[in-house]
Amino acid sequence: MALLTKAPKGTQDILPENVHEHQFVENTLLEIAGKYGFREIRTPVFEHTELFQRGVGETTDVVQKEMYTFTDKGDRSITLRPEGTAGAVRAFLEHGLFNDAVPAKLCYILNCYRYEKPQAGRWREFQQFGVEMFGSASPAADAEVISLANGIFEFFGIENLELQLNSIGCPACRANYHKALKEYFEKNAEKLCGTCLERLDKNPMRILDCKNPACKQLCEGAPFITDYLCDECSEHFKGVQKYLMAMGIKFTVNPRIVRGLDYYTRTVFEFVSNNIGAQGTVCGGGRYDGLVKELGGPDTPALGFGMGTGRLMMVMKSQGIELPKAEECDIYVAPMGENALQKAMELTSTLRSAGIFALTDVVGRSLKAQMKYADKIGAKYTCVLGDDEIVRNAANVKNMASGDTTELGLEDFDMDFTRLILDDAASSLGSSFSDEELSKLDSLLNF
Ligand code: ATP
Ligand code: MG
Repeated sequence: MALLTKAPKGTQDILPENVHEHQFVENTLLEIAGKYGFREIRTPVFEHTELFQRGVGETTDVVQKEMYTFTDKGDRSITLRPEGTAGAVRAFLEHGLFNDAVPAKLCYILNCYRYEKPQAGRWREFQQFGVEMFGSASPAADAEVISLANGIFEFFGIENLELQLNSIGCPACRANYHKALKEYFEKNAEKLCGTCLERLDKNPMRILDCKNPACKQLCEGAPFITDYLCDECSEHFKGVQKYLMAMGIKFTVNPRIVRGLDYYTRTVFEFVSNNIGAQGTVCGGGRYDGLVKELGGPDTPALGFGMGTGRLMMVMKSQGIELPKAEECDIYVAPMGENALQKAMELTSTLRSAGIFALTDVVGRSLKAQMKYADKIGAKYTCVLGDDEIVRNAANVKNMASGDTTELGLEDFDMDFTRLILDDAASSLGSSFSDEELSKLDSLLNF
């Protein structure tokens, strides 16, 4: 039975009481990205497995261990997307978006699937906000993409995130680095885990991203990529730092960051928090100049980042950042008897057409039970309707916060009620100033 009443490991339900916080964060992310010229794209939850094998890379943890892959009824190998970039690049190519204005800028919010060990900040189904920019090789593009992530954290008022920056070079300078790394790790091969032993030949840089404690320790003495950058990559890296400084964005160069996906070239970066435990990377990204060509498209420099919205919200919570509350019921109309219910149905329908959040009794409760319900849902106003009110064609509306009642005609109830809300809001604003504050304001105005 537990299978029926317990969600699969590593998944989460977002309940109605929290869903508005997610909606607010999601809308805000897309809105801010929009101000930087990124337009939303929506791609499928599943793609051909080959896309991730090629796009994410055969030697990555994601492809080797974490993908949800299955054969569909048509005998195709299908994979639930573990990240957003490969799908975005596939769509970019399939729809010829490289013919649009350059740089092409895409953003998305999507659920990703990775078979990982669930823990705080790590789930098997998780949500990522991501952006991708295609067509610029300039370090200004790197700085702009990083500044978007930085701008998002600033907007939400998040503090103490460290931006760690590195360059992992291009295939040319990386060849020498791979050689040096291989030599280093070969000398200590007995300390490496099985997966890393395989990586030693195929992609020794991947070892630097291994989570195994013994491998991690060994990595501490490994050579730094930054000592192997070619002139162009070195210039590019300096350029990124120059533009970041021009924008007043603080960073530290961390030559150990290589990122978990194979397709990165040159700039890689992470925004790391130490407020949310071991899974502190809230946002990770970089440049992937070889990927579009790798997937069969024209040679196109590109870059982007992925931000886990779950970790983002954990950081906000840990820093006491409050998100807007869900809209509460403006008015609960409590009918007594059948005639009154008909009138209440009519009134609430008109109120909703005027944009007001209005409810009435669809359960058949006593007046007392209805008032309890109105209180439970936090209705801002209530209005009791009985035969008497219908005859008078007017009813008392009670402001639940102040206890004040106001009689409104039922004829233009929606308009009169809107006016009442506005009047109450205005007078509560006025009364929130003390006499002293009011006299100060007065003298300022007179000055
Ligand atoms: P990590 O080192 O934490 O495993 P990663 O390098 O695998 O991260 P990316 O593939 O770059 O992460 O994904 C970008 C972002 O997506 C991460 O910085 C993180 O915020 C989020 N993310 C990745 N995997 C998970 C997961 N299993 N659960 C929740 N969020 C995740
Ligand atoms: Mg990972």
